[in-house]
Amino acid sequence: MSQIRDLIIDRIKSIIITVDGCKSNVIDEKLVDDIVVANRKAFISIRADKSNIEKYKQLKIKVEKVLENIDDLDSFSVTLTSHEDNPLSKNQSNKSTKKGIDSISNIIAVASGKGGVGKSTTSINLALAIKNLGYNVGILDADIYGPSIPKLVGENKKPKVSDQGKILPIIKYNISIMSIGFLISEDTPMIWRGPMVISAINQMLNDVDWGVLDFLIVDMPPGTGDVQLTMAQKVPMSGAVIISTPQDLALIDAKKGLEMFKKVNVPIIGIIENMSTFICPHCKEETYIFGKEGAEFEAKRQNVDFLGGIPLEVAIRETSDAGEPILSCYPEASVSKSFLSIAQKVVNKSDAKGKSNNPNLIIQ
Ligand code: ADP
Repeated sequence: MSQIRDLIIDRIKSIIITVDGCKSNVIDEKLVDDIVVANRKAFISIRADKSNIEKYKQLKIKVEKVLENIDDLDSFSVTLTSHEDNPLSKNQSNKSTKKGIDSISNIIAVASGKGGVGKSTTSINLALAIKNLGYNVGILDADIYGPSIPKLVGENKKPKVSDQGKILPIIKYNISIMSIGFLISEDTPMIWRGPMVISAINQMLNDVDWGVLDFLIVDMPPGTGDVQLTMAQKVPMSGAVIISTPQDLALIDAKKGLEMFKKVNVPIIGIIENMSTFICPHCKEETYIFGKEGAEFEAKRQNVDFLGGIPLEVAIRETSDAGEPILSCYPEASVSKSFLSIAQKVVNKSDAKGKSNNPNLIIQ
């Protein structure tokens, strides 16, 4: 693997650039942020300055050209990531990368302490529910470890790029959708390192033509590690919604999630309890498979709002697997109404809080 990496470095090094009148190359000028090779696929990120984007687009094409026909490499992806301090643009004035998301009023993180609790399922249905309430909504699948939004909405086409060099989100169910899953293939296990994650998220946030959005729902990666913490710090979130099952174990992780957002001063909008109950479709008997009201109790204990519960329902799993969220298939179903009621609470709290002023979008 490291041999391929070395070969990639050598090839990129062959691209000669001029910096302050002197000849140099892309590697020596530290324009390559990161190179990750996994499973015969490579992911290369290049530090770019938005104020000089045309130059960097040409550079990207050159890098793609030199990387063609490498034995042992099935595919590669070259992305541009925004930076302020860039040798190719020393004389340019710095521009804030925050500008690109000025058109988004509320960025809301949907997070869970661990995987498998229904975070992505809840994220997409919450996005659709907020849309149904009459708002302009986008969803950013930032779950770099297992991007599942493409599957949940039944889409996997590659996003197009506008004439202005912006990535155009996929539009489905009248919401704007962007996922790391659209950019890398489903079976690519990526080894993400902190700075690279932030570069990718930064690009998905700033280089995507989101248009004017009232709400951007961010489906966060599960867990509360450094990557999540940095993401919570770097993305200007208005607030966070925590998903948990009623089970003790999930709640311990959910608590860590609460702590994480508190640490970076992102207000907690509340907790949603997923898989809160199960009603047998045959005999209608109610069973609390993962315990009763655990998340509601924890919300009280932590002094945060309980936003509502979503039952464990076969239809939720089936519609998710079919790539058509339940809120789109069965908007009249009782569970869809539960999502709408939760969405209303999220909207009420977000509007009241307004947009946070986190200035930390630029990656140094
Ligand atoms: P996470 O994003 O937390 O990893 P997912 O949203 O991918 O979790 O959900 C994991 C699995 O559980 C999926 O198969 C999904 O369809 C299913 N699921 C999630 N919530 C529910 C629910 N309330 N009822 C039935 N199945 C659910």
